[in-house]
Amino acid sequence: MSDVTATDITASTAAELSRALQSGEVGSVEVTQAYLDRIAAQDGTIGAYLHVDADAALAAAGAVDAARARGEELGPLAGVPLALKDVVVTEGVPTTSGSKILAGWRPPYDATLAARLKAAGTVLLGKTNMDEFAMGSSTENSAYQVTRNPWDTDRIPGGSSGGSSAAVAAGLAPWAIGTDTGGSIRQPAAVTGLVGHKPTYGSVSRYGLIAFSSSLDQAGPMTRTVLDAALLHEAIAGHDPLDSTSIDSPVPVLAEAARRGAGGDLSGLKVGVVTELGGEGHADGYDPGVLARFAETVALLESLGAEVRQVSCPAFDLALPAYYLIAPSEASSNLARFDGVRYGVRVGDDGGRDLDEVMALTREQGFGPEVKRRIILGTYALSSGYYEAYYGQAQKVRTLITRDFTTAWDDVDVLVSPTSPTVAWSIGARVDDPVAMYAADLCTLPASLAGVPAISVPCGLSDGLPVGFQVMAPALADDRCYRVAAALEAAQDAARGHTFLAGMENPHS
Ligand code: GLN
Repeated sequence: MSDVTATDITASTAAELSRALQSGEVGSVEVTQAYLDRIAAQDGTIGAYLHVDADAALAAAGAVDAARARGEELGPLAGVPLALKDVVVTEGVPTTSGSKILAGWRPPYDATLAARLKAAGTVLLGKTNMDEFAMGSSTENSAYQVTRNPWDTDRIPGGSSGGSSAAVAAGLAPWAIGTDTGGSIRQPAAVTGLVGHKPTYGSVSRYGLIAFSSSLDQAGPMTRTVLDAALLHEAIAGHDPLDSTSIDSPVPVLAEAARRGAGGDLSGLKVGVVTELGGEGHADGYDPGVLARFAETVALLESLGAEVRQVSCPAFDLALPAYYLIAPSEASSNLARFDGVRYGVRVGDDGGRDLDEVMALTREQGFGPEVKRRIILGTYALSSGYYEAYYGQAQKVRTLITRDFTTAWDDVDVLVSPTSPTVAWSIGARVDDPVAMYAADLCTLPASLAGVPAISVPCGLSDGLPVGFQVMAPALADDRCYRVAAALEAAQDAARGHTFLAGMENPHS
């Protein structure tokens, strides 16, 4: 063993771990053990993981070390541990989507992204907590446990990928996969001081992601640095014949964009500040500290050579009501498959009840309140007589939002906004107020509805809590998000040192 300490390991970026593993400075078993030890010590407080299999992780790590010792040609990610949101189907490993209805389910196959990460030699540490079926912004809708924000354990870690954000921010995984339907990668990344990217819709396979809203769901990276996000994104991207909406285009070149961006020169880049997302006349509901960090970051972009202008996207004001009709409508249909017959839990099958009663009992006891609310809402919005008034109307708004983006791209290369209107709130503060919970998605929903890529990059603190800056780009121009985010990250690091881990020093900064 070298002189690398366990703290060095758990405070490293994934890119640093990849380098150290390739040079033989550390082995994957040593790296994996350092994470497992930290999980054992801290996850009782944080609650990031629903499932950790230490033996399986160490066995996978041992296999990578043995292959490396034999001189086998391995990819750059071989031996690097990671965590997956529990919405990602994993062969033989419990997968619940945060719901009681899937308690005890061990899938017979891997999601495409899980299979790709396995083939790349990454080591699965465990599955992370989430809002049930990815519905929520705080991870409090999980049927299993509360997850705490490592920056302040009385606060939420964001959602729905809050287990993944808390794990990475607390140093319980070097990086993690989240999924984003209306903001669930970007918002938890923002409120825990991480980088989170929602890829262009269709560029990462949805095969094996438990569906919430199929026309919106995308998986993506949640990491400590922009380069790490690009590396993880490249590993999961690319065409998949098993997903009918998968785009058949080459895997985007993202790590290169991140490295180029870190050079810091943004001259010639045209940036649009979205008026409707926290701008003049639209600042209600935003923390003053969030708006202050946002304004400073826009000024930083200008100092790096970008040309900044205001851009109005009027239909963005309607993103929230449109999303909360479209997403529940699709969810009400997707969740029909959970009937107690095919997967997971079955309730009341005692020989005395007919099939309908067993299904009703299973769904009554298997689903939590937010999921039921959305099934009712979605079923109502799709029912005959109301379909045009609600679902049809929402789809028209979706088209208008896409048009606002298309018009904006005539004038600017990227659009920017805060990621979340507020910093992480106190646990419990919004659980009984769904509308306040939904308001957390204000800034992230437009990119979701239009299917365009968007990244959240840390941009400082407000009241000691992380604030995120969102960069949106045209479809398939994910590399622009990485370039701009990397430039900001480098400029901020230079200005004040890296602050990516809650309560941990980065020994490499
Ligand atoms: N907070 C949003 C919702 O509850 C987004 C969730 C998500 O992106 N999965 O639907």
